Amino acid sequence: MSELLKTGDARDRLQSGIEPVFISSEIYRSTGYGNNHPLAIARIATVLDICENLGWLDTGGYVDSPVASFEELSKFHTPDYIQAIISEENAGIVSKESRERYKLGTMENPVFRGLFKRACTSVGGSIEAAKRAASGCTAYHPSGGTHHGQPGRASGFCYFNDLVFAILTFLALDFQRVLYVDLDAHHGDGVQDAFEQDSRVFTLSIHEKERWPYTGKVDDRGGGNARNLPVPRQFNDTEMDYLIKTAVLPLARRFNPQATVITCGADGLAGDPLSSMQLSNGCLIGAVEQLTSIAPSTVIVGGGGYNPWTLSRLWAGIWGMLNGHQLPSILPDSCENILSALECDLVDEEDVESHWLTSLADPDNPGPLRDEVKRIAEQVLGD
Ligand SMILES: [Zn+2]
Repeated sequence: MSELLKTGDARDRLQSGIEPVFISSEIYRSTGYGNNHPLAIARIATVLDICENLGWLDTGGYVDSPVASFEELSKFHTPDYIQAIISEENAGIVSKESRERYKLGTMENPVFRGLFKRACTSVGGSIEAAKRAASGCTAYHPSGGTHHGQPGRASGFCYFNDLVFAILTFLALDFQRVLYVDLDAHHGDGVQDAFEQDSRVFTLSIHEKERWPYTGKVDDRGGGNARNLPVPRQFNDTEMDYLIKTAVLPLARRFNPQATVITCGADGLAGDPLSSMQLSNGCLIGAVEQLTSIAPSTVIVGGGGYNPWTLSRLWAGIWGMLNGHQLPSILPDSCENILSALECDLVDEEDVESHWLTSLADPDNPGPLRDEVKRIAEQVLGD
């Protein structure tokens, strides 16, 4: 296990005496999407188990997630849609009308036992994260990140949109400029759409181009309040570092936010079955760390991620970074046992890399900086 090493921006924050908080719930251990769904894998429980075994939760900082009420949900979602989720879950069967109108009960957005409470807990956690961050700490809520959720329908494995609620919470607390940065492999369409008409919110999304939901093209500026950076296949660390430094940070500083909400999906990592991005976890953690320095208040959530080994190591690593820990190059046996016990239908056994079981930090994955990536930076910075 590593010794404590205070690094960069996280160190400055810790020295100021403001400890980060980790918001989660035991509900994520007991409910799930059901067989054959890409999210039917161990996720948050593994992140918590790794952090506990590394002693990264010993000094406190864990906050049990509140559960959002119907009234809170109604601030973004339509009451008929919320009621449909409750009714369909209780009935155990989804009507044809709900399937068509709300996109519920499909392969993509199945209705399963415990769904409503789980989705409300995700929203409650992001509301709590924003409240805590408003007082100046960094709030980490890896079970959030349902960025495709729409006001009146489910979309892309997302039922409610917890990010929208984190941002609405900041706005209700009279924050005038809230930055949203989405590092998930898919476009953060639901969040962009929600605030397209609100100049208090600026959304930035880096995602793989020509991938579902096929929105977020480079010339899509969301009514002037968004920038989109759709990147080519096999996107590497060198290119991500370049876009963060050359485009994302300058745009973020230009907006001068009072709060930042970051979605750090794990599906941009090398080895994820639902994208071809090739990032190392150190690259994404470094990007998140730099983004936490943009505003006094920061909320960081998870998002997509369909490889249980790479996602749990990334999301544990973000908590380690926030607490000034260096990522251990060799994990203790207890963590190796946790990682060795994971299973995933979408990752073939022979593709499980040995370092996914024994180490928290990936090797860096530098590569060529392609002209197409340089052009994206120019386009989003230009008038
Ligand atoms: Zn995604």
